[in-house]
Amino acid sequence: MNHYIPDHLIEEIRSQSDILDIISADVLLKKSGQNYKGLCPFHSEKTPSFVVSPEKQIYHCFGCGAGGNIFKFVMEMEDLSFLDVVKELASKCGVELPVFKPGQIDAKSNERNVLLDINQKTQTYFIRSLMNKDGKPARDYLSSRGFNDEKLLADYNIGWAAPGWENTLRYLQNQEKFSKNDISRAGLIKQKEKANDNNFYDRFRGRIMFPLQDIHGNLIAFAGRVINETEPKYLNSPETSLYIKGKHLFGFNRAKESIRKQNKALIVEGYFDQMRAHQNGIRNSVATCGTALTLEQASLLKNHTKRATLIFDSDSAGQAATKKGFEVLLKQGLSVDVLSLPSGHDPDSFIHQFGPEKFLEELKNARPFVESFIDDAIAGGNLSTPMGKVEVVNKVLPILMKIENTIERTEWISILTERAKIEDQALLTELKNTIKQDKTVVDEPHQKNDYSNKQNTELYLVHLMFSDKELAIQIKEQAKIENFTDPNLRQIAELCYQLLDEDCELRIDSVMDRLDKPKIKTLLSKIGVTTIPFDNPKQTVSDCIQALNKKSHSQQVEELKKQRNEALVAGESERSQKIQNKLKELRITLTSN
Ligand SMILES: [Zn+2]
Repeated sequence: MNHYIPDHLIEEIRSQSDILDIISADVLLKKSGQNYKGLCPFHSEKTPSFVVSPEKQIYHCFGCGAGGNIFKFVMEMEDLSFLDVVKELASKCGVELPVFKPGQIDAKSNERNVLLDINQKTQTYFIRSLMNKDGKPARDYLSSRGFNDEKLLADYNIGWAAPGWENTLRYLQNQEKFSKNDISRAGLIKQKEKANDNNFYDRFRGRIMFPLQDIHGNLIAFAGRVINETEPKYLNSPETSLYIKGKHLFGFNRAKESIRKQNKALIVEGYFDQMRAHQNGIRNSVATCGTALTLEQASLLKNHTKRATLIFDSDSAGQAATKKGFEVLLKQGLSVDVLSLPSGHDPDSFIHQFGPEKFLEELKNARPFVESFIDDAIAGGNLSTPMGKVEVVNKVLPILMKIENTIERTEWISILTERAKIEDQALLTELKNTIKQDKTVVDEPHQKNDYSNKQNTELYLVHLMFSDKELAIQIKEQAKIENFTDPNLRQIAELCYQLLDEDCELRIDSVMDRLDKPKIKTLLSKIGVTTIPFDNPKQTVSDCIQALNKKSHSQQVEELKKQRNEALVAGESERSQKIQNKLKELRITLTSN
């Protein structure tokens, strides 16, 4: 490698650095025999296959094959050039490097250093602007939101981009001697369309400036917030070679330690939420800042904790962001809680008004996301009809199907059925099948006029007989006993018909006594304790009777067809003709039915 650094210095850095220390900053490692194990930062996984050997000073991932030494790790992790890694590690372990001549620095390293330098100087400029007399409107705004703690503002390097088209540009160009081209690549100025060289203007004007840092504290971009009602409320740096959108979390570099210690990250929406929490000693919070949580951000978190609590706004946008957040965090193997603050509050306003103790108190009410999703679906649904229950189930099911751990999923399903009061065996069976087939939509198990499941038709008829005497009589008169195909149900129905003839009451407990087979007794007790919420029992009875008789017809048709074909094959034309006539008759009854 052509890097102009003497080998003995590389060796010295290597021997002075500890791969375990370096990797531990990005990955939570646990001792495992001679080595250490953790979740791979280079691919998405839930069980650790990333191994670090302190003895050999190398790492390897058995999942994706990533591997290397300390230099390679930092290069890949921070997307740095070899030279930058050497510099970073050298400064960490106190190895002095020679001064580089311009030609000795590779292009990538050079670009990065230039942009970092521009950002750093811009930050200083913004901070100064906030503190001078022109910064008063910005200070007033911050103060009106309860951010007048100078220590906090200094800690976060909050600044002010004054209104005007060329303040930042002129400062960076004239005072700091950067070229327009470099400033533009740092994302701080924009070029007008049909541009010529003089057509650049400041991207950030009249905005409170939040510096954005990566996990290692490098200043990679800015976000600016207006202090009036102008849109957009927030504006970010464009993507640059330092900054890729959706890859970072605001405040993560500050929160990392605490997130590890508490094994939990609080995910909030805004810069002010994160700062307010941090200011009040709640140190494990990070902010997504206006965008939905991305897989990369979740991946960043997974290397430091197993648990996250989403604290988003309670409006519909916030709810959508919560659902999306759950999905990406779940994909990275985190367990996800959700906290809804009282309506109209965000973490910033809540902590500001009620204090951190009250907030921590609220935090105890955080519930697993799935639980709150189930409850919301139930609250927004109509459980009084079977259709309504199916709708609730279908709303929740896509979420449940995302849970890969079957034990956990089963638990949530039983919570769903319990809370939605789904006692209907048919729906439960349907639900089970749906899950087995990995589908996310339950077909309504007993749709009108569609009793394709013969057994259900018969079961419903028996159910309905016990529910109402009038219906029972109708069933007795219209549903032929020989059309019941299930022997147990037929036996029950037969006994019911008999009891009706004797003008007896149909009661499950007494019917049970008259039947000996244990299997039938069990079936009866099950029927007795199961409620099927028929929305229109009368209609259901008619539908079931029709289905039962139709079924039986089509079975006869099939049987006759078979016999006719056998007769034809055997050359018995007379017999086949007879059967054909029977078939004709049956078809007429079938269609007129
Ligand atoms: Zn891997």
